[in-house]
Amino acid sequence: GPDPVPALTVENLTVRFSGLVALDDLSFTVPPGTIHALIGPNGAGKSTCFNVISGVYRATAGTVRYGDEDLTRLAPHRIARLGVARTFQNIVLTHGTVADNLMLGRHRLTRAGFTASALRLPHTVREQRRHRERAAEIADFLGLGPAFDKPVAGLAYGDRKRVEMARALCMEPQLLLLDEPVAGMHPTERSAMAETIARVRDSLKISILIVEHDMGLIMRIAESVTVLDFGRLIADGPPERIQNDPVVISAYLGT
Ligand code: ADP
Ligand code: MG
Repeated sequence: GPDPVPALTVENLTVRFSGLVALDDLSFTVPPGTIHALIGPNGAGKSTCFNVISGVYRATAGTVRYGDEDLTRLAPHRIARLGVARTFQNIVLTHGTVADNLMLGRHRLTRAGFTASALRLPHTVREQRRHRERAAEIADFLGLGPAFDKPVAGLAYGDRKRVEMARALCMEPQLLLLDEPVAGMHPTERSAMAETIARVRDSLKISILIVEHDMGLIMRIAESVTVLDFGRLIADGPPERIQNDPVVISAYLGT
């Protein structure tokens, strides 16, 4: 059968930026095939955590493990190749068609890479066709089928957020990191996206770590939640418990 999806384990992670402690001794685990949410007020350290997991930022202390692999000091492309893909909080998709953007995600997987594709060697032409077919499947899966050959610049905001997620899925990840995937969306788009995220977990059997403010959405799709405040873990558990935790409520109300 297929390889089992590894667990992601963040252990005693600390990140300092000169004087500021962005993450302070943070530990949590994302069990295989589950949706784990990372929530907390603005500036709590959520994006920093994503940036360390994906190799963009260096940990000051602590480790990030993914199955048997230690990700802590790996470069972003090595982490991506191990099956960890991410989306960014602030997307700037302005160039090319949906297909072009998804093929950029596929390029991470090709042995030949950009040079051979540019030369259009015979085997890569075949490979390109196969990648395009898979990209089209993923676009369909995310409801982007009709937009596949359209320029991303002309798409509605919600569709561009979907392209960002489709691009990450085109890397065939086993762990998907979603940084505020429904931010700025209308309520109907939000529900549709929440449904899509749950469908990604269930159909592709992958793990998802999601940063999101919408507690209602988290309640609907996440198995577990870690709450951060000023870089520190203040609560951890199933969403129905987190929602009623007085420490969490007071962090959000700023009391
Ligand atoms: P969140 O995503 O929870 O809103 P961030 O992880 O973006 O929070 O930021 C956490 C803290 O770390 C903030 O105080 C932010 O200003 C700071 N920070 C994030 N990235 C950097 C950086 N590259 N350099 C300096 N400070 C940073
Ligand atoms: Mg953020």
